[in-house]
Amino acid sequence: MPAYTTREELLELATTFRDAAAEDLKRAETAGDVHAVTLRAHARLNELETQLFAGHRVCVDCKAGCGTCCHLGKIDARAHEIFALADWITRNFSSEERNAVLQRAQAHAAAVAPLTLEAHLRTVRACPLLRAMSCSAHPARPGVCRIGHSTDVRICERAFQNPNDLTAKGGSHAVSKLAMTVASDGTSFAFIETGLDKTAYDLGSALAEALSDPSAQERWLAGERAFSKSAVAKQEAS
Ligand code: SF4
Repeated sequence: MPAYTTREELLELATTFRDAAAEDLKRAETAGDVHAVTLRAHARLNELETQLFAGHRVCVDCKAGCGTCCHLGKIDARAHEIFALADWITRNFSSEERNAVLQRAQAHAAAVAPLTLEAHLRTVRACPLLRAMSCSAHPARPGVCRIGHSTDVRICERAFQNPNDLTAKGGSHAVSKLAMTVASDGTSFAFIETGLDKTAYDLGSALAEALSDPSAQERWLAGERAFSKSAVAKQEAS
């Protein structure tokens, strides 16, 4: 396996992920097919993670039932990831569980909408999908949740206890995190190249819309912006 420490290796990695998703998208005929493309891209990211951690001898301190990072700051995702997640929830949750997620996602959307970027980054708030400190939609969680990992849980706990100290965040193996980010961006690029929405969204806010408004997916597949302005992820001014 390449070390993924050079520009050339990272460019090739992004291209490999883009090409795999692009080939897959060419064969997709239904919305369900498109969501399956996303889930297969997630699986490729997991395989890459396994290779990176083994190749770089990364000791990961994450454990099932921790959930600390699922409370921290902003969690952003692309439309293809959010619709695949909403579809997975609809297929796998009971209607009561799905309604409960929708209610928590709507409460999340209302709570974060008025926040500035800085205030949002300093927020400690459970993701609407977190149940008993575990992800209730783990097989369909977006790329950002697959990329995030910690080599020292004490760093995560410090961030949890000191939300105003933005320097307290971190703890990932830098090379692995960068490689997985680049690979995930390669997948997103394949969706963008087909003409689909390239906006980054606040996961909880956009999930609330995906679960409550069937026209959101129709708009997205028609090449329009998937979610409302209030669901757009807050970003640094460019
Ligand atoms: S989607 Fe799952 S893994 Fe990601 S922040 Fe929410 S609970 Fe955590």
